[in-house]
Amino acid sequence: MKYQRSSQLFRAASEVIPGGVNSPVRAFKAVGGTPIFVNKAKGAYLYDADGNRLIDYINSWGPMVLGHAFPPVIEAVIEKAQLGTSFGMPTEIETKIAELAVSMVPNIDQIRFVNSGTEACMSAVRLARGFSGKEKIIKFAGCYHGHSDSFLIQAGSGAVTFGSPNSPGVTEGTAKDTLLAPYNNLEAVAAIFEANPSEIACIIVEPVAGNMGCVPPDSGFLEGLRALCDAHGSVLVFDEVMTGFRLARGGVQELYGVNADIVCFGKVIGGGLPVGAFAARHEIMSHLAPLGPVYQAGTLSGNPLAMAAGYAMLQALESDAEVFERLAQKTEYLHKGIAASLTAHNITHTINRIGSMISIHFSETPVVDFETAAEGNNERFKTFFHGLLDAGIYIAPSAFETWFITDALTYEDLDETIAAVTKIAPNL
Ligand SMILES: *Cc1c(COP(=O)(O)O)cnc(C)c1O
Repeated sequence: MKYQRSSQLFRAASEVIPGGVNSPVRAFKAVGGTPIFVNKAKGAYLYDADGNRLIDYINSWGPMVLGHAFPPVIEAVIEKAQLGTSFGMPTEIETKIAELAVSMVPNIDQIRFVNSGTEACMSAVRLARGFSGKEKIIKFAGCYHGHSDSFLIQAGSGAVTFGSPNSPGVTEGTAKDTLLAPYNNLEAVAAIFEANPSEIACIIVEPVAGNMGCVPPDSGFLEGLRALCDAHGSVLVFDEVMTGFRLARGGVQELYGVNADIVCFGKVIGGGLPVGAFAARHEIMSHLAPLGPVYQAGTLSGNPLAMAAGYAMLQALESDAEVFERLAQKTEYLHKGIAASLTAHNITHTINRIGSMISIHFSETPVVDFETAAEGNNERFKTFFHGLLDAGIYIAPSAFETWFITDALTYEDLDETIAAVTKIAPNL
């Protein structure tokens, strides 16, 4: 396939936008080459600036669980746009989507809408601190909660001990309040609680991790976090920005039967428009302004176009009893096909999968946390990525990303993908 026009557009973009992109994950830094510029998308397919058709396994990094340009969402947005795009005043559609979200997700009474997953997580932690009266938070290496200062703390033993920032611009003062633990490691979390008695405001966790590839929680991990929070009067925050309305109607709380105190949403809940949200029981949400003293606000929060898109999306998911099962079946089919191709060519690999999230790691060890996720063979991933791209299949340009399966994918699309892997495998 040719990507001339994309290359031209990328050069022009790079003059006026840092790195040519408005979010770094869109750059091809890890795999080489230049990003592909999209003209339009429909269902399971992207159509790029050179006229190529690509089968899409990123789906805007998650939101398009029912495929691109899903008609009910598009219609809802067009209808709303004609009535004006923002008022800075309450609208009925905000209550409608809030009622629907609260009815679908266990253990929450109220929800506040924001404009991104970052805002949702940042606000959730502020609320957890305001509610608990404590300051420190525990996060897991390899979990992503948006780009707010407190979350840009990564792995490394020095970071674990001292909370040293890994992005310039994050102050030591902020970093020291974020304590790091390895994912799926309850002992490490317990040790942090012991070393910081009565100081932990909350644990924030991706209850199924999706930002180091897909890493499901080990049996007992989420239950253990729940118990530690209960024992220490800390708040358990589930960051379901990726998993919410994707893995089950009620998200990971429903799937694993573990209750969180605050739940963060993003991605699917906005149907492809910029939406995030955080939700909790009355007892916690009553601390939020204007009811309580914890401040949080947004000029465009609850924007009518965004709410209409999200409402149409949630309605579609709510009214389709089989959708999550269907997604899981397609993902399993893809998993088996890819695994068979790679195994037939003796390519060492590990595939993690849950529901409609799947990731392929070119490593021997099971991938259970950031350290094991980082052991993958990146040269092999590059070849794999570009091989797929040449075959018209678009996966994330990084080995640390989950593939997002959409219901718009047909079994023919999946077969085409598996056939492409079979063709690439001898070169890996
Ligand atoms: C994408 C993501 C975020 C950040 O959401 P943005 O809308 O990109 O700000 C936070 N948490 C998780 C788990 C995510 O996957």
